[in-house]
Amino acid sequence: MRAQVLTAAGRPLAVAELPAPHPGPLLIAVRACAVCRTDLHVVDGELPDPKLPLVPGHEIIGIVVEKGESVDRFALGDRVGVPWLGWTCGVCEYCRSGRENLCARARFTGYQIDGGYAKLTVADRRYCFAIDGRYGDVEAAPLMCAGLIGYRTLRMAGDARLIGIYGFGAAAHIVAQVIRHQGRRLFAFTRPGDVAAQDFARSLGPEWAGGSDEQPPEPLDAALIFAPVGTLVPAALVATKKGGTVVSGGIHMSDIPSFPYRILWEERVLRSVANLTRRDAEEFLALAPEAGIRTETVTYPLAGANQALADLRNGALQGAAVLIP
Ligand SMILES: [Zn+2]
Ligand SMILES: [Zn+2]
Repeated sequence: MRAQVLTAAGRPLAVAELPAPHPGPLLIAVRACAVCRTDLHVVDGELPDPKLPLVPGHEIIGIVVEKGESVDRFALGDRVGVPWLGWTCGVCEYCRSGRENLCARARFTGYQIDGGYAKLTVADRRYCFAIDGRYGDVEAAPLMCAGLIGYRTLRMAGDARLIGIYGFGAAAHIVAQVIRHQGRRLFAFTRPGDVAAQDFARSLGPEWAGGSDEQPPEPLDAALIFAPVGTLVPAALVATKKGGTVVSGGIHMSDIPSFPYRILWEERVLRSVANLTRRDAEEFLALAPEAGIRTETVTYPLAGANQALADLRNGALQGAAVLIP
């Protein structure tokens, strides 16, 4: 089968003919695979010890074409989504307390397990999810990570009424729709001077949009940071009111500059989000069609994987890049 393969961090992906994966748990014919910023971090070597050679990609929509004998879930021909969380141990303290996203032995799709930049992929049935028929393959793909991890990031903001989002890519674009569907208020922060990003953010209907170096017209109850830029952490703390929460949704971020304690004081909370749980996936994939969540996508052929990664790196995308094998 044809795939796009990472052979070493920092190198472009290369086309390869790999043997078809063993059907094992579920063998899935990939229909669409969205490109996530985490794929860039893996390709660039910013995440340690990926499987090599590796097929990246963890926002997979595909059709079950073969299943192992013991697989009691899904039927041949079913459409499934495969997310970043690919396997957990089920027995550690985190798995037993509803925090499988923190499992010490967790394995991740497109990082420690071959992913979806390919014609076929193998996934554990327990970490696959049915996809609502209201979504096409391409538009569903970004739900699998931008949507799921965006949703978990929003959940960590609790019942905040006025929410600021920093960084308007695929995750923000989905979470903004959830925030509005829930009747909460939204402010949008983009890179200073990035008019295209500000226009994109404005199209999602925030009450206010401005540069991340600007103070919002009123302090936030919570801030969600989706850009991998450490300087946004103190900026978001300054924009957030007493007792408010700043949540960083990314897996990787540039160093956070030191900042005065007074911007954290008064019970502001600063936290990160790691990965997702299956509960996040079940909840979000049920909510998304009911809330009418739409995704904005730009499609590339599988052979265009490096171009898609370059366009994401250069900020040349509005919405999510999706590979079609
Ligand atoms: Zn991702
Ligand atoms: Zn575990």
